[in-house]
Amino acid sequence: MRTKIVAGNWKLNYDKKTTNKFIESLKKSVDKLPLNNTRVIIAPTFVNLSSAVEKVEKSNIEVVAQNMHQATSGAFTGEISADMLKAVGVNTVILGHSERRTYFNETDQALAEKVNTILEKGMETIFCFGELLEDRKSDNHFEVVESQLKNALFHLEAKDWKSIILAYEPVWAIGTGETASPEQAQEMHAFIRSIIEKKYNKEVAEKVSILYGGSVKPANAEEIFSKPDVDGGLIGGAALKVDDFTAIIAAI
Ligand code: PEP
Repeated sequence: MRTKIVAGNWKLNYDKKTTNKFIESLKKSVDKLPLNNTRVIIAPTFVNLSSAVEKVEKSNIEVVAQNMHQATSGAFTGEISADMLKAVGVNTVILGHSERRTYFNETDQALAEKVNTILEKGMETIFCFGELLEDRKSDNHFEVVESQLKNALFHLEAKDWKSIILAYEPVWAIGTGETASPEQAQEMHAFIRSIIEKKYNKEVAEKVSILYGGSVKPANAEEIFSKPDVDGGLIGGAALKVDDFTAIIAAI
């Protein structure tokens, strides 16, 4: 059985005080849920990771980072390394989010290097990818997704995939209020599994958790999560409200 995951990407939101208050409140609401086989994850900003890790202690909530640099140290002003994250108790990192690709020019090549660092350091990634609106409109979405995965992940060995969580996030659905239909999500997730099976084997393809991201809300979560190849969600806007995030977790 694949692990289910609901992860909240907080982006550039919430200071330390709000982060800690949110966690207190989320702990109480998550405690009441039957979390069979479901991981609950939040990704606060870098400066609040350390206190967030302390706050989630003895709860079912995990704290992850939103990004990481591929180098372990050096002249990279403003960046954060894998070891720095590990030192504050963070072992999972979101990589390749479309906002990183669009606003910070993250390339597939840089992402491949980041993934290598994740593996060298014994960490785990939630790896994001997805097509632009124009790719979907021109019916190129499968090619785009396949090339993003090939370029950043298909150099890995089968054994490495235990450290990979995939997050399919069509860029046209992120923060826009427009969600991929459950059928569109299922179609893409099944395609992703098929190309992983072709490259590796059935076991790798069946084991990897594939999250859907893009305007998931309490109102649409259950239907999206009901699809057989959708193993949870990466949630932006709706992860910033405890009630909405809890409702989405409960929908899985
Ligand atoms: C995201 O940023 O990963 C995301 C899915 O955002 P939203 O849920 O707001 O569309």
